[in-house]
Amino acid sequence: MPHTPSVTLNNGVEIPQLGFGVFLIPPDETAAAVTTAIEAGYRQIDTAQGYRNEKGVGEAVAGSGLPRDEIFITTKLANGQHGHDRAAAALEASLERLGMDTIDLFLIHWPLPMFDRYVETWRVLEQLLADGRIRSIGVSNFEIEHLERLAAETDITPALNQVELHPEFPQEELRAYHGAHGIATEAWGPLGQNRGLLDDDSVVGLANSKDRTPAQIVLRWHIQIGNVVIPKSVTPQRIQENIDIFDFELDEAEMEVIAGLSRGRRLGPHPNEFDLV
Ligand code: NAD
Repeated sequence: MPHTPSVTLNNGVEIPQLGFGVFLIPPDETAAAVTTAIEAGYRQIDTAQGYRNEKGVGEAVAGSGLPRDEIFITTKLANGQHGHDRAAAALEASLERLGMDTIDLFLIHWPLPMFDRYVETWRVLEQLLADGRIRSIGVSNFEIEHLERLAAETDITPALNQVELHPEFPQEELRAYHGAHGIATEAWGPLGQNRGLLDDDSVVGLANSKDRTPAQIVLRWHIQIGNVVIPKSVTPQRIQENIDIFDFELDEAEMEVIAGLSRGRRLGPHPNEFDLV
């Protein structure tokens, strides 16, 4: 079984550097997909309240027979649950759906700066951490300005920021900020959501020359720049392929080829504009 390295978060907790994302996996297919992933060796699962599939994740983890502490579970606070009155209850509802006493990482899914509640919400997460309800707290889709506000107005630095990140949108400035402040970088849409990146001539060329697949080349690039990465698939062969990336390396010139794909182009919305609740 592939050995996945870990990244040590700023609170000492270790997160497997490769995990399994379950965005857009229908609730009734989630347990099967997560079971396939666990059998392939994944020990980190990324879900969210908004994905409506936490129950399937919990079923697969329970059914795996593995001790709970061998699988790292992340979920995210839904956009409609920001604020002092809702966030703590929303976590309890997640734990209930997952069938777990605690989770390893709880993220604010989007900052929603237009509603100006993320600082208040972060203080709730700080309290949940102090109460031992969760092992680590982090954010998602936070820009530098949002992280700086947390630094100025709250006590705990997020353990991790999960953001859109792939070769066409490598988030260099944000990654540098994370590096300087002890925040781990987690990449969502790591394969560019398979909307062209995996068909790019240079990615395909590298894949052919190394007898690997385009997805493996891109995931290996993420691993080598230090990202935590959470590709999603429901296809067993792809689930396996995406974790079989720890027995080869890209050399400096090959890393440069991937770096050359940067276009400064997002696939998803800008966090300052995304206001869906
Ligand atoms: P991704 O880059 O992981 O792409 C997923 C798509 O790529 C799949 O639907 C599949 O069609 C294809 N694919 C997967 N493996 C492949 C392979 N080996 N070969 C060819 N094609 C392959 O995009 P994503 O699902 O958007 O992101 C991954 C995870 O990140 C999500 O499942 C979710 O957990 C998380 N996420 C978080 C946010 C956020 O706002 N925090 C947003 C989007 C996604």
